[in-house]
Order: sequence, then C-alpha cells, then structure tokens
Amino acid sequence: MTRLRDKHGRDITDLRVSITDRCNYRCVYCRTGNEGAQYSELPFADYLRIVRIMVGLGIEKVRLTGGEPLLRKGIVDFVREVAALRTLDGRQPDIAVTTNGHLLSDMAEPLKRAGLVRATISMDAVDPAKFARITRVHNGYDNVLAGIREAKRVGLEPVKVNCVLLRGFNEDQVVEFAKFSRAEGVVVRFIEFMPLEEDRVWSPDVVVTMDEILEKLNQFRPVRQLPNALSETARRFTFDDGVGEMGIIAPVSHPFCGHCSRIRLTSDGKIRTCLFSLFDHDLAGRMYSGATDQELSDYVRTVVDQKEARHHIGEAGFIKPSRSMVHIGG
Ligand code: SAM
Repeated sequence: MTRLRDKHGRDITDLRVSITDRCNYRCVYCRTGNEGAQYSELPFADYLRIVRIMVGLGIEKVRLTGGEPLLRKGIVDFVREVAALRTLDGRQPDIAVTTNGHLLSDMAEPLKRAGLVRATISMDAVDPAKFARITRVHNGYDNVLAGIREAKRVGLEPVKVNCVLLRGFNEDQVVEFAKFSRAEGVVVRFIEFMPLEEDRVWSPDVVVTMDEILEKLNQFRPVRQLPNALSETARRFTFDDGVGEMGIIAPVSHPFCGHCSRIRLTSDGKIRTCLFSLFDHDLAGRMYSGATDQELSDYVRTVVDQKEARHHIGEAGFIKPSRSMVHIGG
C-alpha cells in the first residue's frame, strides 16, 4: 500500500475531523456572534468509515475538532472506535482533540479511558474579564481552567493551551501565559491570527507576530529555543531555567506550508486540503451515492494530489476562503 503523498512530495499523515459545526463560544475573532451552525454533521458511523479508509492510506494522527467537539453526544464512543483502528505500522492512531475546554472537566477522564491521547485547549486570556470579553461567555473562565487541570490530572499529555493573540485585545497576555505555563506545567502556544474569521476583523496590523512575542518573552526572562520536528507547526521555546514551554505558530509571518502533513474533513464530510482552499471536495456525497471503500480511497488520493503548495496570506490577490475556521475545523 503506498501512503498518501501529494505532488509536492509531502507525506500526508495527519487528519483533522470536525465532528460538529456547532459551538458554544462566540469568540470575537472567530464568529460574528449572530450566526449558528451553518453545515450539517454526519452520523459517527460515517466519520468512522472515512477515518478507517484514511488510516488505511497512511494517516497516523487523528484530531477531533469543530465547531466545539465536546458538544457532540457520542464522542467518547467514537474515540473508542477510532482507537481500535490500526495504522499501517500496526499502531493505535494518535488521537487528539482541540476544544474550548468548557465541558472538559467532566469529559477528560472518560475520553482518556476511551483512548484519547492528547488535548489542546483554546484559551485566549488568563484574566477572567479579558477572557469573557473575547469569548463573549461570562462564566467560561473557571470551567476552562478546571478542564485544563483535569486534562493534566488524567494524563492527556502534553496538555497544550492555544492562544490567538490580537492587538488591542490580549497582546498583554504573553508574559502572563508564560507564567501560566510555568505554574501549571502545560505547553502554551501562541498562534498568529489568520484571515479565517466570519466577520472582517483581520488586517496585518491586528496580527501579533512571532518576533514581537519573542521580544516580550525575552523581556521577562531569556528565552532558549528547543528542537522540533520539521512537520511540527510550532517553534518551541523555554526559558534559561528550562521551566515552561511556549510554542509559536506563525503561519502569517513565518509560513510552514512546505512541511504541511495535514488534510481536513469538515463536519458535512468535505475534504479540505488547506485551510485556505477555495474548494471543498465532496467525499460524503460520493459515500452516500454508494461508492465502495476502494472508490473512496481512490478519490482521497486524487484529492490529496491537488493539495495546494502554500497559502497566500498577505499577498496581492489573496482570496479569503468562503468557509471560516469554525466551519472548517481548526
Ligand atoms: N472549539 C474548539 C476550540 O475552541 O478549540 C475547536 C475549533 S476552534 C475553530 C480551533 C482553534 O482555531 C481555536 O484555538 C481558535 O482559537 C483558532 N482560531 C479560530 N479562528 C482563528 C483565526 N482566524 N486565526 C487563527 N486561529 C483561529
């Protein structure tokens, strides 16, 4: 069996599956606050069939996302079923979740027992008032903090906390997050804001870049870079005393498309080969018109072959995709 590889020579080993388009948060940089779910969700049995076919093509990591994945009833059983699959090397897939953490404190343990390996929790401020201003959810902060601590307690390691920095909202949180990483023993990752919002908020000036983040961290304590794998999205850093880990994901100022190993499945069963793709590829449509596993495998190969070389953020002629992050699955 030849493994998935695109025409630019990149091995595709990482699948992100959005299991619902619904979200219980309305983060200002992601959603307008007025729209709800816009796309349907498939029965878990259909996601499972797709994941099984993709694992048979060399996918090794499966990340469940959304929308907010923990809103989807049945996620624990789904994780158990994905964990029973075997990669081409005979291993359990590396299963992760990206969540806003609001419901995680009750679900971390059952998810871990079902076979979830890692959790990434999105949290854009370590200050409850700022957190509420960004998420537009007033009782969220304590829930998310409890979720992070529970994920750590049950060993969904490494627990990663993702923070999107926005000038005018939370750029003053960089050092606070570094302290949080040191105190809580979690990896904090700063993500540059990308033009993938429902509204029109993005402009280059709102992006807090990697260089700026490093400068702020260095003012707190001298920063030391850690080694990382090529396909890893984050550049990793710690401080001179080795306490705390901060990653910086810099798709805007330092794109890493050349090492991209990812494809995505939207909640309604479309494949996206890049966050910035202008087209969806309708895998579910083929499945529902009766395609066999072999036909679906062949289709996935054809789609992967068309994966874009890179994104064009910040270039003249950049076209914002019609689906925003929350409707793709970040
Ligand atoms: N609801 C889950 C959560 O909050 O993690 C999963 C979906 S959410 C869309 C996934 C991640 O995308 C979150 O960490 C969020 O902060 C990030 N995100 C959303 N819009 C973004 C943008 N325009 N640029 C960069 N990251 C973004």
